[in-house]
Amino acid sequence: MNKIYLDNAATTPLSEEVIDAMVSTMKMNFGNPSSTHSFGQEAKILIENVRRQVADYLHVSPAEIIFTSCGTESNNMIIKSSVEHLGIERIISTPMEHKCVSETVLDMKNRKGVEVNYIRPNEKGDIDLHQLEELLKASDKKTLVSLMHANNEIGNIVDIKKIAELCKENNALFHSDTVQTMAHMNLDFSEIKVDFASCSAHKFHGPKGVGFAFIRKATGMKGIITGGPQERSLRAGTENVSGIVGLGKALEISLQHMEEYTQHMQEIKDYTIERLSDAIPGIKFNGRSAEKENSLYTVLSALLPYKNPLIGLQLDMKGIAISQGSACSSGASKPSMVMMMVLSEDEMDHCTPLRISFSHMTTKAEIDALAEALEEISKDYAIEKTNVEHR
Ligand code: PLP
Repeated sequence: MNKIYLDNAATTPLSEEVIDAMVSTMKMNFGNPSSTHSFGQEAKILIENVRRQVADYLHVSPAEIIFTSCGTESNNMIIKSSVEHLGIERIISTPMEHKCVSETVLDMKNRKGVEVNYIRPNEKGDIDLHQLEELLKASDKKTLVSLMHANNEIGNIVDIKKIAELCKENNALFHSDTVQTMAHMNLDFSEIKVDFASCSAHKFHGPKGVGFAFIRKATGMKGIITGGPQERSLRAGTENVSGIVGLGKALEISLQHMEEYTQHMQEIKDYTIERLSDAIPGIKFNGRSAEKENSLYTVLSALLPYKNPLIGLQLDMKGIAISQGSACSSGASKPSMVMMMVLSEDEMDHCTPLRISFSHMTTKAEIDALAEALEEISKDYAIEKTNVEHR
């Protein structure tokens, strides 16, 4: 059985060039980048080259790029350090952030007494920028706004340029979790005035265990991991040299092919919408997921018109990997906050969400296989439903 991978928002397969670059670094450049001898300095040069490459991509200074272990660490560092070192007393966020943001925000509320204001998204998953503006104007407390660029479950994209402007006008700092958009979109932070952003290499065919935080120099941010001068003392600890080289190679490939990859994935996404709409009458798409504007081309969030908590397992048995989402799952697992925001209670009780996420390697034949598998599984539910309705 040829296995089909449609869970690229969770992680992506490493590209061959990335593996080669990493293996070569592990073999040839094992020096500690903090060592002053040539072994160390060769490793250091590799890191600094990637830092410059990332900085060029984002149109920022290399000093503003801090390598970390992942997106989660970057987001934790930004939020915790803002409270600890920059005097943040209030955070404005949404209930739809990734848990590494929402739980860190809650932690700051519980342990540090930070006031937290939530913007409640509408049923499409949109946030109201007027509400943000009102909240910003409503208090003199030193404020951090934390809003993700693209939602990892439904793919909605927010206008971070506009949000950054609103934050500047109101003296607030702005953090955007850009894990799902880094290397997938052109991001020019000389135009988009975010103060902080995050990246994770494994979301764009790089390795796991490496990412970076963008920290705008003017904020004066300090680190929370102490014990060494690495990463300009913002993140102590010997750097993951081969991981950073892998991140650089993955970024290079993504940027080289961005137009072609974007077009391919948008076509695949459109084809998926078409095929699934034909195969499963009554299927819906969540948030802005099925729209071209303000929706990430890598993510499609679908809603099957029947409840089947086992759908992920059934597809997996047919060799197809997708993420089930958790809105209608059985037993212990709780609905995700995102699904609670965008689905009605009726939909939560009677439907099944599916997150299908693409890469440049996804083919139409794979989408055909998904549509056929779902059609077959859905038949049983249609029959059950008909029987129930007949009685
Ligand atoms: N933020 C978003 C939006 C994500 O989708 C993810 C991963 O799924 C993360 C943060 C966490 O990234 P990492 O897996 O590198 O910790």
